[in-house]
Amino acid sequence: MDDRLIGIALLGSTGSIGTQTLDIVRRFPDRIKVVALSAHNSTELLKSQIEEFKPKFFNCSNLSMKLENGMVGEAKQCSYEDMVTDDEVDLVVTATVGDVALVPTICALQAGKNVALANKESIVMAGEMLIQIARTNNSKILPVDSEPNAIWQCLRGEGKSISKLFITASGGAMRGMTDMEKKKITPELALQHPTWTMGPKITIDSATLMNKAFEVIEAKWLFDVGWEQIEVVIHPESMIHSMVEFEDGSVKAQISPPDMKLPIQYALLYPDRIFNPDLARFNPVKLGSLNFESVNFNQYPCFALGLDYGSRVGTSPAVLCGADEMAVESFLKGAINFSDIPVVIKEALQAYQPVVGKTPEDYLSAAAWGRSKVAGIINLK
Ligand code: MG
Repeated sequence: MDDRLIGIALLGSTGSIGTQTLDIVRRFPDRIKVVALSAHNSTELLKSQIEEFKPKFFNCSNLSMKLENGMVGEAKQCSYEDMVTDDEVDLVVTATVGDVALVPTICALQAGKNVALANKESIVMAGEMLIQIARTNNSKILPVDSEPNAIWQCLRGEGKSISKLFITASGGAMRGMTDMEKKKITPELALQHPTWTMGPKITIDSATLMNKAFEVIEAKWLFDVGWEQIEVVIHPESMIHSMVEFEDGSVKAQISPPDMKLPIQYALLYPDRIFNPDLARFNPVKLGSLNFESVNFNQYPCFALGLDYGSRVGTSPAVLCGADEMAVESFLKGAINFSDIPVVIKEALQAYQPVVGKTPEDYLSAAAWGRSKVAGIINLK
């Protein structure tokens, strides 16, 4: 086998990041081979992906129920644990939503596999645990999310001289709206992100800025900096994906038109940078200007909540993830208003008694507690 050929297990292959990861595989078939695919609900799309990429393994509970022999073509149904630790897998791409990726991520890191992490919830819930497991097993967590991916790119060739990280935020679909306007926001409106095309959960998290709080937590664990060294700035053009200030005051920024395929490709083909005709180029003159402003905490209550509870030790960050997941799901179903999202999350967090997280199950049960607490609060309203 060509030693430059990377075998991937792709968890969440039918979602936004999953399908874009497969676009990168289509572009570079001599560099990336799909060993395993998994999906949740989109069985037809998964089947067509299996036919096209011919993986060794797949996982999909909905599809498995309909199969007599557990096979789709030559692909064999297999547990997450077995697929991520298979000998042919070099890199596990976690592109799922929610906490389903936590245990497979741990299994992969324990087996010495690198993990291209697109799933934020795992690292928000159990960041310290994941970093320790990676360190002990000599495996790496490679960030796919555009902001930590930008920081990773800026740190290339640098020593340990970070003075500050600037994480940029577009401000989401509701930037500049009044409280009254926010009350009337429909799910359809909130799902229209100004600069990025993403899955529904993360688009709502971007509108509330909970997503940005999660990225601060992600950056803290990935780059081993203090909380006070991370600053979030609103940058409506989404061209600068993040910046690193070094001890001497010099700042490096990673700039490119907003397209997740670039950070995905960087994580998959690292350390190589290869021409991809699908990716648009940055044109400074055409763009004209880049703008920045500070975050107004009053305008984004989820951001303040996320930073507060997400930076706590123990299982509070996991409850935050679970509570946010249920609040966003309820908003998308029309059960609560947009402005109720931070209210129900806060109520759940305030009712919670955190414990020290010792096992993955401690974090998963805390997230489940957060989900059911928010569901209960909404039912009472
Ligand atoms: Mg991001």
